[in-house]
Amino acid sequence: MTIAGEDVDARERMAVLNPATEQVAGECGVCGPELLDRAMEAARGAADAWAADLERRRRALAEIAAAVRREAGELAAVLTAEQGKPLKAALFEVGEVARWFEAFAAMEPAQEELATEDGGHAVVRRVPLGVVAAITPWNFPLLLVGWKAAPALLAGNTMVLKPSPFTPLSTLLLGRVIAAAVPPGVFSAVAGGDDLGARMTGHPVPRKISFTGSVRTGAAVMRAAAEGLKRVTLELGGNDAAIVLDDADPDAVESPLFWGAFANSGQICAGIKRLYVPESLADPILERLVDRAKRTPMGDGTDPAVKLGPIQNRPQFDRVSALTADAVARGGTVAAGGHRLDRPGYFHAPTIVTGVGPGVPLVDEEQFGPVLPVMVYRDVEDAIAAANATEYGLSGSVWSADVDRAARVAGRLDAGTVRVNDHLTFSPRVPFGGRGVSGLGVENGPWGLDEFSDLQVLRTPGPRP
Ligand code: NAD
Repeated sequence: MTIAGEDVDARERMAVLNPATEQVAGECGVCGPELLDRAMEAARGAADAWAADLERRRRALAEIAAAVRREAGELAAVLTAEQGKPLKAALFEVGEVARWFEAFAAMEPAQEELATEDGGHAVVRRVPLGVVAAITPWNFPLLLVGWKAAPALLAGNTMVLKPSPFTPLSTLLLGRVIAAAVPPGVFSAVAGGDDLGARMTGHPVPRKISFTGSVRTGAAVMRAAAEGLKRVTLELGGNDAAIVLDDADPDAVESPLFWGAFANSGQICAGIKRLYVPESLADPILERLVDRAKRTPMGDGTDPAVKLGPIQNRPQFDRVSALTADAVARGGTVAAGGHRLDRPGYFHAPTIVTGVGPGVPLVDEEQFGPVLPVMVYRDVEDAIAAANATEYGLSGSVWSADVDRAARVAGRLDAGTVRVNDHLTFSPRVPFGGRGVSGLGVENGPWGLDEFSDLQVLRTPGPRP
């Protein structure tokens, strides 16, 4: 762990499993209450000086981006060892971290000047919150550090960050890289179980909790944050629908639909979790998806031929297996996959299920794994209604040869992000956030940057000084 600018170990340690082998990938110290206090006090102590110099912060973010690119090989190797994703995907994720730090290094905290109706003048500006506690899940342990630390630090906050106990190692390594580019205490990375997350949200020092994870934990974070009126940004689960329109070209949409659902072995908050296809195109699209599911290599992410890794942990593997078995018990048909790979590791073959609909948990809930239910519709109005019949509202997509037509349908999806002929692109300049139970607030872009600050109004008499 990195606390107050120092490498810190702890007597209590935890082992981290490699999900491709079920062997120990490494271990790390566990942050107890005293170490957490030390990290929080250091973050508070460093906050004023850090908040005072925007140009210094810009330079630090640029330095972090360069250091992340230099260390990419090691970061990606550790990420693959503990998370399971293919090395190429791990390298992409590390690159995204650097891209986020570069983008935020160039962003400007908002400031506006107003003339008031009584002849006075007001400056509306953004001031940092102080200490931010950040908590991340196990599917994109590094990318999400970029999404949280880059804007929080640029806005002038300090941060204490905790990764998931399933994937702490790559984050602790990245934490060391970030901490080396900033004054002691500005950024600390600690590791521990869910109890450490709860202790962070209940700790008196942080002024904001930036959380990515499940809906259930998000609600617990919000309850804890209410005490002390901490700000929260919650990026939670999704049950994204993709709707194919009847003029789509099956050859053109098949690959992006497959990867929209199966990239990261389906463990993406805003991945395709339900696919709606028109009756007229059901056969050609299913045929292509099933063929791709059967021939896409799944295995240990260190093998360069592998395109899909394991499910990251045992409880999630069991959940995905149970949802698939339940869908079959309720009359669903497995068109591809449906089985565990005959090897060690949490490998669930890429699976496509047909003949299911509302009322089946595989359709109604977030599966978060390599299993895609495909539903056939007759009337696009029915597909839109089915897509919206969920409490989730993260993102959605519509696929068509006619972009305007697709955009009109996409605009009717009840989600924070709706897309045409794409499901998975993200940008540091474009806000991302969920409606409904998928979250509260947004990350990225100037909107995400704003969430790491409070508005402050400076009023002066008379016209602009
Ligand atoms: P999780 O909610 O179980 O855990 C997330 C983090 O919260 C972990 O670090 C965990 O230790 C911590 N935590 C657990 N209990 C806590 C508590 N009471 N107080 C504070 N922290 C606590 O989620 P997970 O299973 O690790 O991740 C999968 C979920 O994350 C999926 O639902 C997925 O959709 C979601 N997710 C959302 C986004 C997004 O941007 N919307 C991105 C990635 C993942």
